[in-house]
Amino acid sequence: MMDFGFSLSKSSTLNLDTADLSLYKKLCELSPDARTCMACGSCSATCTAGPFSGMSVRKVILDLQRGRDVKAMVQGCMLCGKCIMVCPRGINTRNLILNLCKIYDR
Ligand code: SF4
Ligand code: SF4
Repeated sequence: MMDFGFSLSKSSTLNLDTADLSLYKKLCELSPDARTCMACGSCSATCTAGPFSGMSVRKVILDLQRGRDVKAMVQGCMLCGKCIMVCPRGINTRNLILNLCKIYDR
């Protein structure tokens, strides 16, 4: 095979009809405000832990909506609460993370 000096990335296509959204549904039962997230990224931009751990509330919610596991990311949160202060939708993001921790402990 000829080496062109690059390779194709693995497809990132998602099939939302078959994705397991059970975690997202459980979270929405405990934190209904999660449904109002508009993925603006303000929380991620201000996150204390983000630069060191890869934590991002925006990505947590988006990944859950796509049926992905976010346990490793959530473990990077320090529960400082800075993200609550900047959320334009007034989502209690800290409580959202705490509820996710409860779901994972079950
Ligand atoms: S509570 Fe967690 S997600 Fe929010 S700013 Fe602090 S470390 Fe980041
Ligand atoms: S700041 Fe609020 S609305 Fe924006 S991505 Fe974060 S949780 Fe969603």
